[in-house]
Amino acid sequence: MLLVLDPINLTEISMNNGYACFLDQLDQAIAAYPTLRKVGVDDRVVLAGCLPVIDRDGRLWEEYEVEIHASEQFPHRFPYLYETGGKIPRIGDWHVNEDTFTCCTTIPAEEILRCKKGITVTEYIDEQVMPYLFNQTHRRVEGYYVNGEYAHGVKGLLEYYSHVLGTDGSPGVTVRQLLYIAENTCPPRTSYCFCGSGLKYRHCHKKAFQMLQEVGVEILRMNALMIGRRYGVL
Ligand SMILES: [Zn+2]
Ligand SMILES: [Zn+2]
Repeated sequence: MLLVLDPINLTEISMNNGYACFLDQLDQAIAAYPTLRKVGVDDRVVLAGCLPVIDRDGRLWEEYEVEIHASEQFPHRFPYLYETGGKIPRIGDWHVNEDTFTCCTTIPAEEILRCKKGITVTEYIDEQVMPYLFNQTHRRVEGYYVNGEYAHGVKGLLEYYSHVLGTDGSPGVTVRQLLYIAENTCPPRTSYCFCGSGLKYRHCHKKAFQMLQEVGVEILRMNALMIGRRYGVL
């Protein structure tokens, strides 16, 4: 018998896969972060508890109450992080998504590249959650984020892609190059670069082209449109 799945069932299946993979890893994450524990929220198990931020001299600086929830596409996207103690303002300027209240630890393109081969819950806490929390305390106490940051939202997308492409913050040039990369296959090595620099492609945008195609053409196109609309260059 042919089993026809409607879109709702497909969503359910992919959610369950992400959730099952997440569940499998919780004991390992708790071994690494013993202040976290498994808690039931809305029929689902989440990781919850207190995470300590240590200052540069090794002293306890601050503690954050957090919850970490499975995401649909885990381990190929990050889980969701929530700061539940009310210490971080729930606004984009503090890198909290205002529609979902999830914490924004990096921009989507970097998340996708990091998760190409999958990420574990423990790696996610090590690499994303702890630096994010450290940075929030650093900003509150010292007034700024420690390693610089991309702005939240569309402005941050422009900053990121402009940095990768070397387009000097120009929305028009950045959008044109993103759309070129989204819509074309890899140019021949010996051809002149699509950016118009007059250099050979292999000496110019070859690395950026290959890296951004790894992000995925759908995301590139969507991000290019978001930047283009915001800055009125489409
Ligand atoms: Zn953000
Ligand atoms: Zn170029």
